[in-house]
Amino acid sequence: MSGRVIGIDLGTLNSCVAAVENGRAVILSEDQRTTVPSCVAFKGDKELVGAGAKRYAVTNPENTVIAVKRVLGHPFDSDEVRAAAAVARYPIVSGPQGGVVLRVAGHELTPIDVSARVLAAVRELAEKALGEPATTAVISVPAHFNDLQRKSTKLAAEQAGIDVLRLINEPTAAAFAYGYKKGRDFMLAVYDLGGGTFDVTVMRARGDTFEVLATDGDSYLGGEDFDSAIAEWLKQEFERQHDSQIDGDDTALLRLKEAAEKAKVELAEVDSTRIELPYLAQLPDGGHIDFSTTLTREKATELVQPLIQRTLDLCSRCIDAAAVAPCELDDVLMVGGQSRMAAVQEGVADLFGCEPRRDINPDEVVAQGAALYAYSITADSLRASAEDAADDALGVALKQTDVARKLLDGVDERLDRTLGDESLQTLLDELLEATGHDDMAELTADPDADLPERAKKVREELLQLDYKMSELTEKVDSDSPDGLEAALQQISDQLSAAHSSSDRADGFLDEADQHASARKVELQDVTSLPLGIGTVGDALSILIDQNTPVPVEHRRMFTTNEDNQEEVEINVYQGRSRDASQNQLLGSFTLWGIGRAPRLTPKIEVAFVVDEDGILSVSASDAASGAEQSIRVRDPLGVQATQSQRRSRSKF
Ligand code: AMP
Repeated sequence: MSGRVIGIDLGTLNSCVAAVENGRAVILSEDQRTTVPSCVAFKGDKELVGAGAKRYAVTNPENTVIAVKRVLGHPFDSDEVRAAAAVARYPIVSGPQGGVVLRVAGHELTPIDVSARVLAAVRELAEKALGEPATTAVISVPAHFNDLQRKSTKLAAEQAGIDVLRLINEPTAAAFAYGYKKGRDFMLAVYDLGGGTFDVTVMRARGDTFEVLATDGDSYLGGEDFDSAIAEWLKQEFERQHDSQIDGDDTALLRLKEAAEKAKVELAEVDSTRIELPYLAQLPDGGHIDFSTTLTREKATELVQPLIQRTLDLCSRCIDAAAVAPCELDDVLMVGGQSRMAAVQEGVADLFGCEPRRDINPDEVVAQGAALYAYSITADSLRASAEDAADDALGVALKQTDVARKLLDGVDERLDRTLGDESLQTLLDELLEATGHDDMAELTADPDADLPERAKKVREELLQLDYKMSELTEKVDSDSPDGLEAALQQISDQLSAAHSSSDRADGFLDEADQHASARKVELQDVTSLPLGIGTVGDALSILIDQNTPVPVEHRRMFTTNEDNQEEVEINVYQGRSRDASQNQLLGSFTLWGIGRAPRLTPKIEVAFVVDEDGILSVSASDAASGAEQSIRVRDPLGVQATQSQRRSRSKF
């Protein structure tokens, strides 16, 4: 690990990065901008990322990719990709192995490629702000991100030259930011309603252990659905006012959706807002229809109420799963841009029986939590590096101090003698030649003296030498040999160098102290969705259930369904439906070489392992034949799904 560790919130619309400075998580910014729009554009042969790309999006939507997180890790044949393709101004086509390719301005990009560019821009911002490399990060993902989405995020980070220390769930990061500075135990819920997804998490902190008790949510429920509900009303209003249909007019519908979002955000501040959309629809005779209407906060609230209720129902299910009563919670944190809506906050307050926390910045708290977690898990190694650096600087300081002392002593001793310039220079040269070994050895030999003790010794020694130097300087008069001033300058330079090495060592020691006092917190997260394999009759056989603490490993025996069945296809799913095929297919592989035997006889062991990033690997083996097969979907969705045949059928 080199440079600083950072925490990145890779958001759908905006990304944010933080680092820990003096024990506090600080949002890193450029030109006072604290977020990087998650946006990539192509302008001629120039590639723009972030704010520049977002500005360009207005005039060149067909060359600009926005909100790629919505399709990251989703197969081409999925509702998310269909929804994105319906509004994208560039073709979204099927990629290798069921993945997605975006055709933008002559470029073919996967969602991983686009996310990698955003992450690279975030990294660049961090490095500029910190003035040092920042290649190691904790990155947050929605709690409901499935395995493919998590893997895709990691791959994008790798492509951006970022070493991912850990993925952290967004609500967990928010809770971490909230609880890190608190010295006491607490229990809290995090309500995270972003642009595209909703997550709720109940977490408990006891001592230095932060434990997620339960998490729930809906990856199809977010601010965009609020926009759609309002846009639908606007459409009806238009049709009512003008007795004209705009169903097939994609551009008009898109403008209604944009107007809906703008109005929704404005209604956070005002009671009603005017929507003006000139030239919204074309008439067959070439004329046009303008549209304008007024939307009140009350009406907007009524339109989105069913969506708010869905989030509240999920909250109830989550607190039930966590087996806590709302009154046991110390706080409810609101995260995600859509949680700013007053009606959302009122609904949450009613359900939990307490006012949710509004004093946190939902755009920043996740990155802060990720940074604090990154710091918490690296503080020990940062302390060790700072101590090594202090040790090195002290070694240099000792050497320089030693040389300065010898020169001072030598010159002082022989000052009374009359020496010519040359002799004085010869004396200095002789002394320099002779210095640096014995006394140095004495000063550094004591391995038991701890670093602060050695640093103190050097400081004391330097004080004495400063004093001696000033005495010597006072002795200089008109009778002094001509070369003395130059000799003293040489000694003074040596002393200054020793001082600055000693100061550097002190700086590193302060840094080490700070890292030593960092709170080392253990984070225990859970799986957000059931994981299992498809069995006969399209049933999902769950191996690891929702809300299981990770990392975790579960094994289960399966068997064959037909006599002499020599191979079996294993389809790995993630999701809540009992029908396997209704869930997200994470990967498939075939275990072949099963020993021929009557149906229901072979014992095929399937093992699921979920690591602390929530990433799954699966293996299957037939004990009788020794056949074994595993899948590590390192490069999901068409980048490169790998299967490995580790051992084929045994001959015996
Ligand atoms: P996030 O994914 O957390 O960046 O959240 C983005 C969503 O928050 C979008 O749907 C925005 O329209 C919505 N949003 C942002 N600010 C507000 C606000 N003040 N009131 C209502 N919704 C907002």
